[in-house]
Amino acid sequence: MSSQDWLSQGTLVLASNNKGKIAEFEKLFAALNLPVNVVAQGQLNIEDAIEDGLSFVENAIIKARHAAKISGKPAIADDSGLCVPILGGAPGIYSARYAGNHGDDAANNAKLLADLKPLRKQDEKIEAMFVCVLALVQHAEDPLPQIFQGIWTGEILEQARGENGFGYDPLFWLPELGISSAELSKEEKNKISHRGQAMQLFKASLAK
Ligand code: IMP
Repeated sequence: MSSQDWLSQGTLVLASNNKGKIAEFEKLFAALNLPVNVVAQGQLNIEDAIEDGLSFVENAIIKARHAAKISGKPAIADDSGLCVPILGGAPGIYSARYAGNHGDDAANNAKLLADLKPLRKQDEKIEAMFVCVLALVQHAEDPLPQIFQGIWTGEILEQARGENGFGYDPLFWLPELGISSAELSKEEKNKISHRGQAMQLFKASLAK
């Protein structure tokens, strides 16, 4: 088995039901001109996997295996989130459900601001990073998942800025650009984001 056998399978299942991520991935995959159809797992009625790993990489593999098992096709999953070192890496793998309800972006952002409030010191930045791990499995029991990881560093704002993106984007400040990630267009964000970086590594792997 070669690491690129999946390219001859006709379909690659995108193991995500997160609308924001799917929209970004659609643009990223379109730019790659892959000889396969990339189909989001929702289109195949595949529900979310139970993410019970302790790291992004474990959860990405769990999600990819789950989609590959149900579809019988190769699958790629992304596990991503925000890590804030001063919070011991939180929200980390719990980013989507930090405040309790899965995907409640407003509540998650409010909790992040509340958790950071007592820790803020004047003139000190709160460093943070968005992390994205992509795991590609050729089949559900693939012993050699391909892993691509991107890390995007920034800072956490004291209040939301910008209307684009999703999740923690309005709180993620990019000091070099002087804007939040919610002030970037999808295209601009994909060029530099954690997901864009992981996709670049994925793209590079195709050339091998
Ligand atoms: P996952 O679907 O379990 O990987 O959860 C990812 C969560 O991390 C999302 O629901 C967001 O809260 C957060 N996240 C990941 N990527 C981004 C991003 O690009 N912008 C903003 N939030 C993100």
